[in-house]
Amino acid sequence: MKTIGFAATSADTPLASFRFERRAVRPNDVAMEILYAGVCHSDLHQARNDWGWSQYPMVPGHEIVGRVIEVGSDVTGFKVGDIGAIGCMVDSCRDCDQCRKGWEQFCRKGNTQTYNDNDRIDGTRTHGGYSKHVVVREEFLLHVPATLDVSRAAPLLCAGITTYSPLRTWNVGPGSRVGVIGLGGLGHMAVKLASAMGAEVTVLSRSGDKQADALALGADRLLISTDAQAMAAADSSFDLIIDTVPVKHDLAPYMPLLDVDATLVIVGQIGPMAEPNTVPFVMGRRRIAGSPIGSIQETQEMLDFCGRKNILPEVEMIRMDEINAAFDRMERADVRYRFVIDMASLAA
Ligand SMILES: [Zn+2]
Ligand SMILES: [Zn+2]
Repeated sequence: MKTIGFAATSADTPLASFRFERRAVRPNDVAMEILYAGVCHSDLHQARNDWGWSQYPMVPGHEIVGRVIEVGSDVTGFKVGDIGAIGCMVDSCRDCDQCRKGWEQFCRKGNTQTYNDNDRIDGTRTHGGYSKHVVVREEFLLHVPATLDVSRAAPLLCAGITTYSPLRTWNVGPGSRVGVIGLGGLGHMAVKLASAMGAEVTVLSRSGDKQADALALGADRLLISTDAQAMAAADSSFDLIIDTVPVKHDLAPYMPLLDVDATLVIVGQIGPMAEPNTVPFVMGRRRIAGSPIGSIQETQEMLDFCGRKNILPEVEMIRMDEINAAFDRMERADVRYRFVIDMASLAA
């Protein structure tokens, strides 16, 4: 299938129009016309080879919502016209202990990433959502509840599940005391989701600038992390802190905020962190953990939860040819809170 998208052709050139082939639909595949694609901070990292494993040309995008245009002969869960969604993975070995448990994100052989990876069957490069069409195996395609506004749903597929999964893993529910560090794409979803689960939500920020936004998104309060007195008063007052800051930073100020046995989970920065002081870990049996996306089943559960509660990301719609400017703005954290590309703006 011939299609068109926007690709990075090297680490230091802007994304540009790119024609390429999608594979023909296999018996268990579904083909979609992409309607919307979210712009994740990791798209920028990968386009610029910040993690060192990029291959070019690369079509980024792992927050995809589209309409089904063709189904393979063995497909049972989707039909032409359905609205489907794809997140960060498009396949896994489906045979290892993790896959059998339904935790494809931890596949022992490595899951197949939606872009900048190789298809498990024919070895061709995978390409992401900054394009007109996509072909994916049925098991990795998700159903978008009819109640959700499709133009805003795409960021749920990475920002949404990445924050939903730790909230579920650490059993957040009514009365849980949840802190959220950083109020960007991930952080604003963490606030909305935790609040919808009934938690008492506090946004931790270096200044009070985001107070009104935090409250509007559903937080109960904003705690200024540079205010020593306020931080001391919040000692041992959280059950879970979700750290969404995407760059290297010091965790020391946050650890004493955790209650005994509580956890700070990192979902933003992938790489070195400042050297930790173990005193708060040892004295309060506190933990630092990390968490990637979520499983396919958990992602569907998250979409259904958002459908029931009408939880949607705050988005700014852009045209495909505005992507390079959007990357620049995202680097300056100048977006409330996620860019979404309207794929109708991409000429065929
Ligand atoms: Zn992402
Ligand atoms: Zn596996």
